[in-house]
Amino acid sequence: MIKATLRPARTGLERTEYRDIPLYQPDFRPAEIALHDNTNRFGVPPTALAALRDSALDAVCRYPAPYADELKRALASYTGVDAPHLATGCGSDDVIDSAIRAVSAPGDALAHVDPTFPMVPLFARMNGLAPVAVPLTAEHDLDAEAMLATGARVIYLCSPNNPTGGALSAAAIERVVAEAPGLVILDEAYAEFMDKDATWFRRAPQLERLLVTRTLSKTFGLAGLRIGYAAAAPGLAREVEKSRGPFKVGTVAARAAVAALDHDRDWVAASIRAMIESRTRFVSELRARGIASLPSQANFVLVPVSDAAATAAATRAAGVAVRPFPKLSGLGDAVRITIGPWSEMDAALRALEQAPR
Ligand SMILES: *Cc1c(COP(=O)(O)O)cnc(C)c1O
Repeated sequence: MIKATLRPARTGLERTEYRDIPLYQPDFRPAEIALHDNTNRFGVPPTALAALRDSALDAVCRYPAPYADELKRALASYTGVDAPHLATGCGSDDVIDSAIRAVSAPGDALAHVDPTFPMVPLFARMNGLAPVAVPLTAEHDLDAEAMLATGARVIYLCSPNNPTGGALSAAAIERVVAEAPGLVILDEAYAEFMDKDATWFRRAPQLERLLVTRTLSKTFGLAGLRIGYAAAAPGLAREVEKSRGPFKVGTVAARAAVAALDHDRDWVAASIRAMIESRTRFVSELRARGIASLPSQANFVLVPVSDAAATAAATRAAGVAVRPFPKLSGLGDAVRITIGPWSEMDAALRALEQAPR
């Protein structure tokens, strides 16, 4: 949760656009079962862990490669997109922020689907852009017409969308990419959980105005390493790296990421299969209890409730952290629940049963 109360004391030096931007302050209290941030609950890729344990002194006393060449080599092999079409960053957050800055000027607009990843309107404001929220349709899909009508310099789409969980329709994305006046950022943080043929990452290099972002934080279980990446036409990828600046991916993180990308693909695939099995069972157990959830192609489900804060407080008291989303556009209150191994989902079910909904 971003708490409106967390505003730093005024110094008189602050940049005007930053005055109403709070620090990011989610509920950091440790929970026995942490189903609030969509990270991989099935563990850490084993080769990545070994690479971290083996990282020697040479990895810490020298600067990393300015633009993470070896990481891009491994990402190219994993994704099938050549290295010149890739950009990396300190998490995909950094890639999104840098991409916005690379193509816009203060005063421009950034239009985003709503509800979506809450960092995006903040990144817009941090770069002096005006965020414009474009509500999803009643089917939780992209409204291409309304999105294009904004004429925004930057359009942000997320598929599968966080926090609703469903993929945006290909036809609507296709139309926005074809007709957008500026950059389209498509956030595929959860794309590895959905049908591979329906993703856009490999198409981005051929589409001048499309940048598709991904991350090692979710499917790969490496959120603490802070590694994100994107595919785009080569000119755009270089502009994003320019805007991002050099040395944003640390040596130790890059080594572990390369190890995971080169050697832990089977582990990742197995954890995706286990998550899908767990999600299918969780959704049907919810349904059996009369609890509705939105259709999900990601590693989380969204459950509409009447008071998100009350539901989240009650499940947390039972040892299960879920993420409350009060007042989502078109949906009202909801809680987002990350899908983990069945033992954790079983605990989540029991906590939800007891919680006010
Ligand atoms: C978690 C998440 C990210 C952040 O990824 P990092 O690579 O950890 O910065 C980006 N986009 C969406 C939609 C997410 O849910």
